[in-house]
Amino acid sequence: MNIAEPLSLEALTAIEHLLTEEERMIRDSVRRFVREKFLPRAGRLYEDEQFPQDLIPQMAEMGLLGANLEGYGCAGMGAVAYGLALQELEYGDSGMRSFASVQGSLCMYPIWRYGNEEQKERFLPRMAKGEAIGCFGLTEPDSGSDPGSMTTYAVRDGNEWILNGAKMWITNAPFAHLAVVWAKVKEGDKAFGPETIRGFLVERGMNGFETPTVHGKMSLRASATGEIVLTDCRVPDANVLPGVKGLGGPLSCLNQARFGIAFAALGAAKSCYETAVSYARTRVQFGVPIAAKQLIQAQLVEMASEIVKGELLTFHYARLKELNKLTPQQVSLAKKNNVGWALEIARIARGILGGNGILLEYPVIRHMMNLESVYTYEGTNEVHTLILGKALTGIDAF
Ligand SMILES: Cc1cc2nc3c(=O)[nH]c(=O)nc-3n(C[C@H](O)[C@H](O)[C@H](O)COP(=O)(O)OP(=O)(O)OC[C@H]3O[C@@H](n4cnc5c(N)ncnc54)[C@H](O)[C@@H]3O)c2cc1C
Repeated sequence: MNIAEPLSLEALTAIEHLLTEEERMIRDSVRRFVREKFLPRAGRLYEDEQFPQDLIPQMAEMGLLGANLEGYGCAGMGAVAYGLALQELEYGDSGMRSFASVQGSLCMYPIWRYGNEEQKERFLPRMAKGEAIGCFGLTEPDSGSDPGSMTTYAVRDGNEWILNGAKMWITNAPFAHLAVVWAKVKEGDKAFGPETIRGFLVERGMNGFETPTVHGKMSLRASATGEIVLTDCRVPDANVLPGVKGLGGPLSCLNQARFGIAFAALGAAKSCYETAVSYARTRVQFGVPIAAKQLIQAQLVEMASEIVKGELLTFHYARLKELNKLTPQQVSLAKKNNVGWALEIARIARGILGGNGILLEYPVIRHMMNLESVYTYEGTNEVHTLILGKALTGIDAF
């Protein structure tokens, strides 16, 4: 049987010709880093429920922490370069990408956008260097898709705030130095004034701030997930983000992170696709490689088509983002489409690998399990459907 070299996904997508030299350089350096420093350990880290904290300094050196922010020691990457960098991280593992998304889009971004100069100078340069790690506390045990129902409260006491409540599913929390915690406050007297949501910079070492690890995850095992428990935790006025009030604050951060996720999830999909092609070309059943079977080819073609379409969508949206023209509805469309397809592609790849598909020796089952979390966090698939449904019909179906 004549077996030619396979056409690469990159040749099919062909965005290569549209990238700047700098974008290519950033993508290639993250690619090398992931393949040399992370992938050889990926299965073991996943099995051991370990996030590789020793790789943080190198990620910082490559400008991956707060990558798309300007100033304060951040790399100031454009949206395409940022998306490609995250995609390479997620080619390695969604846990690696989650770490960078949370540090940059969910912790550094709110300080950068809503913080005062003193807060920015105090936190951002250290965070860009990876010397201070951040997390983002919005979700609670009883408040997920409906964050407005949160019950974490902040009450003013002189020039301090007293925080009480619990946050759940918080990426990076177990080893974070700093948490952006979103809490409901009653301005002035506890009994009066409109209830609103504000962002508090809670630092490790403050009394009443604990971050127990969530164990037993079968997904995102190479990412540290914890709770945030706040018990009469006193936070000074100087640690309140002055520039934002209300749910729009955390939602604007999520919008940043979701864009990165839409781009990045295709990295996991590409890893699964490439593994499936290579496996199908060498696995012989019924006397021929299974890639010679039309059913297998149909699956591979569907996987490749969806990756190419998803990549073109996010590339276009990233260029729009660079022009400040990207809307939250477009971000929802991209997150829903790309993560949904990445998960489906991982499941198809798992099937193509047969029994071997469940072994950690191959990246597929790890990506498949990880993508179950990515499907749920940063707005579930249903939440993004409802955001788009509302925009397209003018009727709120939440
Ligand atoms: C590994 C991991 C890491 C995470 N990291 C963070 C983090 O760093 N910071 C943080 O704040 N949060 C984080 N999260 C939390 C994540 O954002 C939430 O899990 C997510 O928002 C969903 O909330 P929930 O799990 O409470 O599900 P629920 O909101 O209870 O939803 C359960 C189901 O109901 C559906 N549903 C809800 N409302 C509707 C509706 N109106 N119509 C139809 N269906 C609906 C949902 O789509 C879902 O299928 C993380 C989660 C995971 C799993």
